[in-house]
Amino acid sequence: MRLIGLLGGMSWESSAEYYRLANELVRERVGGLASARLLLHSVDFAEVERLQAEDRWDEAGVLLAAAAAGLEAGGAELIVLCTNTMHKVAPAIEEAVSIPLLHIGDVTAHAVRAAGLRRVGLLATAYTMEQGFLRERLAGHGLTVLVPDADDRALVHRVIYDELCLGVVTEESRQAYREVIARLVAAGAEGVVLGCTEIELLVDQSDSHVPVFPTTRLHVEAAVTAALAGD
Ligand code: GLU
Repeated sequence: MRLIGLLGGMSWESSAEYYRLANELVRERVGGLASARLLLHSVDFAEVERLQAEDRWDEAGVLLAAAAAGLEAGGAELIVLCTNTMHKVAPAIEEAVSIPLLHIGDVTAHAVRAAGLRRVGLLATAYTMEQGFLRERLAGHGLTVLVPDADDRALVHRVIYDELCLGVVTEESRQAYREVIARLVAAGAEGVVLGCTEIELLVDQSDSHVPVFPTTRLHVEAAVTAALAGD
């Protein structure tokens, strides 16, 4: 089994899910007491969030590239960056290491295509919904990506940073997300990408009439598949 390098802490609420899901999947697939071989570098999210808000993405890239290099030096054989938003700096990370970065956009697009869909709504941070780095990656796989309107984008973003990243899960926000999902479906979405690694702490398939694509779970499944393929 290959050693997975998790680059997390963005936020740790979702990194904890990566850790739990990776171990559960290895146990399911291998059996017995088998568990995932992994290294975790967990950053201080306050530092990363400040760099995001101040539009200092290059510095965030330097920070995460150094962390990824540390994972490689520690023996990691693939990098799993546990956040959609910070895939904005994926090129800086890829330049700093010689091991593969398992891109969350590619993993998500493969799942959408495997479900036979092409037109998906995207729920994510404002950075991810409004900038091109993930949308274009998905479009590169032949997908059309719809995003919520400005008010809904602000709501989805606020819930991520003010609630989910702080471990706060409320019924009120769940209902608000259901309504945003319904509006995306009314606008033509055949499926909805939960494109922020905390969103699946709040909503799941039961909150949507169309298929949802939970990026944390999909990312972990792909990582475990890759790790086990390296036996
Ligand atoms: N975990 C989130 C994501 O998947 C947001 C936190 C961050 O900005 O990294 O985009």
